[in-house]
Amino acid sequence: MESTSRSWSARARCVVVATIAIVLAGGVARPAVAQQEMSDVEITTTHVAGNVYMLQGRGGNIGVSVGSDGVLLVDDKFAPLADKIRAALGEIVGGEVELEFVLNTHWHGDHVGGNVEFGAEAPVIAHTNVRGRMSTRQETAFGVVEPSPPEALPVLTFGDSVSIHFNGEEIRAIHYPHGHTDGDAVIFFTGSNVVHMGDVHFAGLFPFIDLSSGGSVRGVIDAVTRIVDQVPSDASVIPGHGPVSTVDDLREYLEMLEESVAFVEAGIRAGKNLVALIAEGVPERWAGWSWQFIGEARWIETVYGSLQGS
Ligand SMILES: [Zn+2]
Repeated sequence: MESTSRSWSARARCVVVATIAIVLAGGVARPAVAQQEMSDVEITTTHVAGNVYMLQGRGGNIGVSVGSDGVLLVDDKFAPLADKIRAALGEIVGGEVELEFVLNTHWHGDHVGGNVEFGAEAPVIAHTNVRGRMSTRQETAFGVVEPSPPEALPVLTFGDSVSIHFNGEEIRAIHYPHGHTDGDAVIFFTGSNVVHMGDVHFAGLFPFIDLSSGGSVRGVIDAVTRIVDQVPSDASVIPGHGPVSTVDDLREYLEMLEESVAFVEAGIRAGKNLVALIAEGVPERWAGWSWQFIGEARWIETVYGSLQGS
């Protein structure tokens, strides 16, 4: 992880910053502006393992299942990138793209913004709370997000889990309550030995945990603990943001989360307030996980706020 997370350079981090800025500015609601902002975005393709590919560029990582049954997407970035995404899919399949399903990992606009385009081609599937939040006005810690248009909403919703038997394998979406949000689904490609984590995992970075959407630091720890125990040790991991990772990378991420919680809990027990904890800073080992959007101060504030709320 060390080498991959370091090689995931400042440029990529800027992409995440821009992504989140657009989400918070209501990217879905401002297509004309977003179109210009997206004109310089390149979509790159990585073969992860088996049937599964990953598309990167601005926004959350897209997972793609390709095979004789057609194409399934996990997340779809922003609507203005739809043509570029279609072109990248065409390159993978070597011809006409037959999109059959779209799965959403959670409701944030950098993961579901393309629904308004791809939802016309294939059914969109997501946890019940994704449809709930997308169809109503959301007041987040970073501003208001207006409801998505009806054609962008998931048409198939599930509670605990759903399986799609597709391209010769079971693709299983499992809900982990109160992680990055209250509607996270992690997607297991059981034959290809790949897991798409959505924003439950930011690779090598302090994560954004959306407490105003039902997210929780302990919930993320619970989810990652269960996933690490569940997947084969040689599984490939697609994070919500960042490069393809390994199960060992997930274990290191889990250590960071657990040590961050331990640090804040010890501080609270010692009578320190948030200002004092921020002044102290996270344990040295994790300082490099800071980035522009979630620096040490915001990360400590997130952990503190999440623990106080629970
Ligand atoms: Zn997110």
